[in-house]
Amino acid sequence: MSLDGAYDPDNIFAKILRGEAPCFKVFEDDVALAFLDIFPRSTGHTLVIPKHGARNLFELPGEMIGPYMQRVQTVADGVRRALAPDGVMLVQFNGAPAGQTVFHLHFHIIPRFEGEMLFAEGKSPKADLDAMAGLAAGLSAAIEA
Ligand code: 5GP
Repeated sequence: MSLDGAYDPDNIFAKILRGEAPCFKVFEDDVALAFLDIFPRSTGHTLVIPKHGARNLFELPGEMIGPYMQRVQTVADGVRRALAPDGVMLVQFNGAPAGQTVFHLHFHIIPRFEGEMLFAEGKSPKADLDAMAGLAAGLSAAIEA
């Protein structure tokens, strides 16, 4: 998948946005949706996606960038307050050669803990679903607080 091409309305994040696929939601408003990554690279790995159907950063209309990035910051701040990490990584890939695998724009929020190794990209085990439910509730409460 190169940078140019048509938006696929059946990509997995579009399905999550329409409620056709499940997710562990941590935040939602009219601009963005945030949910836990199903293959977390660290505890609390969260994805923030715009509601607008854009494949990558270049396709999100300029006037939507500010409101979307404000939600990225809001969610990252909630993750920070809920989990007290030592650092927070924000990651965003554009195009398959850059590492993008789902072609709906998203920022990864990846909490980092001192001395804790990160799972390599694409190498994380699938998360425990019961643990994810509790984690999502905790993050959601922190984001709303
Ligand atoms: P990318 O490499 O495109 O930046 O990242 C896509 C991310 O989406 C990966 O971290 C992957 O684990 C995550 N992912 C893929 N499919 C699903 C899914 O069905 N649900 C959730 N919650 N995350 C997914």
